[in-house]
Amino acid sequence: MKIAVYPGSFDPFTLGHLDILEQAAPLYDEICVAILKNSAKRSFFKIEEKAEIIRCCVEAKGLRNVTISSFDGLLIDFCQKLGAGYIIRGLRTITDFEYEQQIHSVNWNLDRQVHTVYFMSNPEYSFLSSSIVRELGSLGADITPYVPAGTVDYLQRRLMENAQ
Ligand code: ADP
Repeated sequence: MKIAVYPGSFDPFTLGHLDILEQAAPLYDEICVAILKNSAKRSFFKIEEKAEIIRCCVEAKGLRNVTISSFDGLLIDFCQKLGAGYIIRGLRTITDFEYEQQIHSVNWNLDRQVHTVYFMSNPEYSFLSSSIVRELGSLGADITPYVPAGTVDYLQRRLMENAQ
């Protein structure tokens, strides 16, 4: 069984994240979207909110082989526990590449049985990040072009609440 993990902060999940998930989903038996719990970056959204937002997108897209979980500690430990042989990552720009290369060598040294697979961002989303969505949303700008359809109202409200 080909199991992959798609790890990230997903703070929040954007159309860029969804695009990568949709590219990867047909290639694996199971993909676990794994929300990082103790990122060095402080999170705006709670793990439960992030998971609910992702669940809503996965259901709307009918991605039946996608599960959602969260993890802390080493990603490789999480992959081993799950029996996952693949890590999915998205690449937007050369800056992503340099960061990913560093993380890849660390993971590679920890476990050579777990392969990282990279998917190129849809050019439409290559500038898009969770932080841009948070910033635009908190300033009252329309975030409809950047986040999955069913999540717009919830995200817009939460981001505006915080700005007040
Ligand atoms: P992390 O803190 O692990 O980078 P993110 O939630 O920012 O968490 O990103 C998770 C993954 O999704 C990363 O591989 C990142 O490059 C990818 N990603 C983020 N935004 C986009 C986008 N707009 N298009 C394609 N991939 C993206």
